[in-house]
Amino acid sequence: MSADCLFCKIANGEIPSAKVYEDEHVYAFLDISQVTKGHTLIIPKKHAKDIYETPEDTAEQLFSRVPKLANAIKQAYQPLGLNILNNNEETAGQSVFHLHIHLIPRYGNGDGFG
Ligand code: 5GP
Ligand code: ZN
Repeated sequence: MSADCLFCKIANGEIPSAKVYEDEHVYAFLDISQVTKGHTLIIPKKHAKDIYETPEDTAEQLFSRVPKLANAIKQAYQPLGLNILNNNEETAGQSVFHLHIHLIPRYGNGDGFG
């Protein structure tokens, strides 16, 4: 837990979020400004600023949950495709400095993303 980290506060319930999945190591929730319907973020519960500062065990825990979550999103929203993204450092678009993976369901032309 990093004292002033928004996503640490979301993971521990201090700040409310629309939970999609949770286990011992990760927390997944809907993005507050979804670029498409079902846009979900998955984060490690253990704070890591970005991919450069992520220990291997934390990365394994996080990335290993992605297929399960992708399938849950596919089943729930029936998208036609799915983008998986991770932004590191401001230049690449990172705005929250707690490692997170975006899962962005795609619905075809005009879905508003990309
Ligand atoms: P980044 O730009 O760092 O890759 O992604 C951060 C994401 O966090 C953005 O898509 C943004 O909409 C989302 N976000 C920022 N603040 C909150 C919040 O308080 N709650 C939720 N659910 N998402 C947030
Ligand atoms: Zn954090």
